[in-house]
Amino acid sequence: MNNKAFYLETFGCQMNVVDSERIVDLLDSIGYRRVEQPDQAGLILLNTCAVRDKAVRKAYGHLGRFKPLKDRNPELILGMGGCIAQQEGKQLLEEFPYLDLVFGTHNVHRLPELVQNIADNRVRCEETAFLDRDTRLQLFPTRTGQDAYTRFVTVMQGCDNFCSYCVVPYVRGREISRPSGEILEEIRELASQGVREVTLIGQNVNSYGLNDKAELSFAGLLQQVNAVDGIDRIRFTTSHPKDLSDELVDCFGTLEKLCKHLHLPVQCGSDRILRAMNRGYTRERYLEIVDRLRRVCPEIRLTTDIIVGFPGESDADFAETMTLLEKVRFAELYSFIFSPRKGTAAAGLEDETPAEVKQARFDRMLAMQQDISREIWQADVGAVLKVLVEGASRMGEGQIFGRTTWNRIVNFTGPSELSGRIVPVRITKSYRNSLLGELSENVGR
Ligand code: SAM
Ligand code: SF4
Repeated sequence: MNNKAFYLETFGCQMNVVDSERIVDLLDSIGYRRVEQPDQAGLILLNTCAVRDKAVRKAYGHLGRFKPLKDRNPELILGMGGCIAQQEGKQLLEEFPYLDLVFGTHNVHRLPELVQNIADNRVRCEETAFLDRDTRLQLFPTRTGQDAYTRFVTVMQGCDNFCSYCVVPYVRGREISRPSGEILEEIRELASQGVREVTLIGQNVNSYGLNDKAELSFAGLLQQVNAVDGIDRIRFTTSHPKDLSDELVDCFGTLEKLCKHLHLPVQCGSDRILRAMNRGYTRERYLEIVDRLRRVCPEIRLTTDIIVGFPGESDADFAETMTLLEKVRFAELYSFIFSPRKGTAAAGLEDETPAEVKQARFDRMLAMQQDISREIWQADVGAVLKVLVEGASRMGEGQIFGRTTWNRIVNFTGPSELSGRIVPVRITKSYRNSLLGELSENVGR
């Protein structure tokens, strides 16, 4: 194989981001280097997402774009990994004759061997077997080596919740928690290399350790991470309201390094639909959690996910979602129109709501939320906020950027030597997706 350059595209959630980091390391170990242009690569990989139809179509669209490259250069290896690969398996090789490799969510570690085999023998292959628990525990992605001041650390994988709309349990497998000793060791190592902020990730981090009596609870794990010298900030995602214990809520009042932001997907404001979604909590329980969070940490800002147009959602159900959004006042909303996923329980449900009605609900919700978000972020103008500087800003010359405790990007003028430090920044302007500021003398909040 002469062209040891690879091009990698990543779609989807933070689990795929971490898997892609792993792919880069694994390919590096067999002499491949990453390039930014697909036409320079001898190996092209797509790490895909299957959570909604739009994501699937996007991945297929990108794959199609690489076909002319393969036509010009038959030596080129084209591979697809991630959740679409896991779900579709061999079928993909049949559907896309120019695709050489399909690797599933449990088989990322085998990439060097699979790529080498294709390069040496010009075979096509598919590897999507799920692994047993013990093998998976050996294979949790670990990365050290500092190339950023903020890092994702995987604490659990898979999901056992089977929300009726969701494909994740089928493509990521059963839930497993990584031993806390190993997690803490990785975080200490990252801290010693200069990492300042860690985000603990998993599909449902709140259920960390619940299947293992000997393991720490997620709140217990956070307390231990809070004690690691050199780490200044802790975040975690994603949370499930049903597993958000009081002990965990109270961490927002007691752990000084825990950022004052929680992404807590509610999905819908109607109990009838929440039941049909198999979410395991009621609207009232969700609102109780929000109250408690705000009692222990008045400055906390919440963000959420909403699915509009779940099968059977009536105008009255949707109105309940709207009143919930008005009541909670989330700082940010990630909203989706229901997308039936093959193999999930909700895919088989009767769905009489016309697409235009769903779209109209979606637009109405977004318009209302935009006003709420604008008001919340606008309130930061004039305040001095603590910003963890991450590096040079995309805004150009002399600008650096970082994030507030609420995970909002702030651009400001300053020397790049401030990278990795928490500095006070006076906010001067609020845009849709970021803030503008200037370095301040005051200590920020
Ligand atoms: N485990 C996380 C959770 O429970 O929130 C993340 C799951 S998923 C990757 C992210 C979001 O996609 C979900 O919170 C949900 O709002 C949305 N989603 C999942 N399946 C969907 C579907 N079939 N149609 C529309 N949105 C969907
Ligand atoms: Fe999907 Fe529900 Fe699991 Fe989240 S908790 S990954 S929405 S099944």
